[in-house]
Amino acid sequence: MTDCIFCKIISGDIPSTNVYKDGQTTAFRDINPAAPTHILIVPNKHIDSVNVLGSDDESLIGHLFTVAKQLAAQEGIADGGYRLIVNTGEGAGQTVPHIHLHLLGGAPMKHSMG
Ligand code: 5GP
Ligand code: ZN
Repeated sequence: MTDCIFCKIISGDIPSTNVYKDGQTTAFRDINPAAPTHILIVPNKHIDSVNVLGSDDESLIGHLFTVAKQLAAQEGIADGGYRLIVNTGEGAGQTVPHIHLHLLGGAPMKHSMG
């Protein structure tokens, strides 16, 4: 998608602080971090949201979690605890229509869903 900000980050057209890349996935630090560690893990393939996931995307989505686990260990937050969030749709606060997994940690978090 030519006008997608995350596609442009994946291609390198927009700079970001990349922390991980492989053939399926790119991970970079959120520009407006909500926690000491705030990383976005995205598929290199453009997918708007969970709403349009296909069954052929299952291994790709599973891979995002494997990368999240590795990055949590790398960031030193695996034992202390971290949160993985996927906002879907406007009402949930999704602002970038390219599916992404937020990895948040490094500070105590309240158990709030709002
Ligand atoms: P959402 O609200 O869609 O779940 O999450 C989008 C996230 O992308 C937000 O936390 C926002 O700070 C982050 N973001 C938006 N634009 C950019 C950008 O250009 N670079 C980076 N690194 N993060 C961005
Ligand atoms: Zn995209």
